[in-house]
Amino acid sequence: MLERSNELTAWDRDHFFHPSTHMGMHARGESPTRVIGGGEGVYITDVDGKRSLDAFAGLYCVNVGYGREKIADAIAAQAKNLAYYHAYVGHGTEASIRLAKMIIDRAPEGMSRVYFGLSGSDANETNIKLIWYYNNILGRPEKKKIISRWRGYHGSGVMTGSLTGLHLFHNAFDLPRAPILHTEAPYYFRRADRSMSEEQFSEYCADKLEEMILAEGPDTVAAFIGEPILGTGGIVPPPKGYWQKIQAVLQKYDILLVADEVVTGFGRLGSMFGSDHYGIRPDLITIAKGLTSAYAPLSGTIVSDKVWQVLVKGSDELGAIGHGWTYSAHPICAAAGIANLELIDELGFVENAVLTGAYFRAELEKAVGDHRHVGEVRGDGMMAAIEFVEDRDDRQFFDPARKVGPQVAAALLERGVIGRAMPQGDILGFAPPLCLTRDEANIVVKAAADAIRSVL
Ligand code: PLP
Repeated sequence: MLERSNELTAWDRDHFFHPSTHMGMHARGESPTRVIGGGEGVYITDVDGKRSLDAFAGLYCVNVGYGREKIADAIAAQAKNLAYYHAYVGHGTEASIRLAKMIIDRAPEGMSRVYFGLSGSDANETNIKLIWYYNNILGRPEKKKIISRWRGYHGSGVMTGSLTGLHLFHNAFDLPRAPILHTEAPYYFRRADRSMSEEQFSEYCADKLEEMILAEGPDTVAAFIGEPILGTGGIVPPPKGYWQKIQAVLQKYDILLVADEVVTGFGRLGSMFGSDHYGIRPDLITIAKGLTSAYAPLSGTIVSDKVWQVLVKGSDELGAIGHGWTYSAHPICAAAGIANLELIDELGFVENAVLTGAYFRAELEKAVGDHRHVGEVRGDGMMAAIEFVEDRDDRQFFDPARKVGPQVAAALLERGVIGRAMPQGDILGFAPPLCLTRDEANIVVKAAADAIRSVL
């Protein structure tokens, strides 16, 4: 076992270029390498036999948990019967057509079609292209700017990296600035004016957005994109009334709304979609992760009827739309998606996200909420975060050199539980599989409390 692990680790350091990894430290063996060998339920096991409770569901994606035979069987059956056929020029497979129907059946009102991709990033690239195409077809060639939010995460492609409002993802990449703009993050805990109520802060965010639209010229602003709850930016639920106020501004200036539901789609907030959960009425929705619970890579752009009608007009004027991926609607991924959505329904995971999610967050609050370095325990559905502060009263940040978030995450891992040190700020994030039980939640809470006390 050890030999296998050592050999893999050496090959890994010499040959594998990892995403979001400090390249030099990894290659020199100065940062840990972990080779994962298996998974069952909420647990993963590495090739050395060490088991960890994965309280981040991979990258908030393994929503139904590991080792689900139903999905594995569906993938195998599809691979045997028809491993691939493309979706160009009107071709489909039974799996991709069935899955498109299942998605629209579950989607918020007014949604019409699904364009399939493979990752959240490519689905957002599709969104950007559709938004530009839409305004060209409507004869508004100037209306092209897209407003995102600081701390938003929308991918790491060329344009989607630009949409992402986290510094790490911009560092030294020269991503295009235009036509992307960033507005205020709806981060109530970190508001500059502490006297503001949640509603006042939502009003403030909407005012900032309107100011930006007016400064740029409403005729130049095409769309606004946001995650229903900020995810990678710190697991920050929106302040009360936020989405209603933002939507009112967007409607006033005829600006499309894209709900990026890559994390929240298919149950994570305790509703099938985060848009339903917070009363958002999007024109386009991005989906990925929870669509297949990551058993196969699949994403989608869900297009509302309003946008679809214009796209159809575009084809009538210009011919076939010049946008396609070889693996769009890949049947093996679609088969995984169907089995996954069936499992979510059969096993009641959306309800579990409400019940066990609320229990988990309440227990975390009880266990660490009054710790002198815990500024806030927050979350919604099956998402939670603990934000650490140097000082509770003035909410001062720790010196970043102390790396408090990563240290707590490492201490948690030593106790057999995986959480995520979020990339900006000292925040420990949790997004467990939606099948988490109360007993498993208790294990996470105890390990988190011990880990925090060991570091702070
Ligand atoms: N959008 C959101 C909200 C995400 O959280 C992510 C990934 O975490 C993406 C888009 C990008 O998805 P992918 O990593 O599959 O490209």
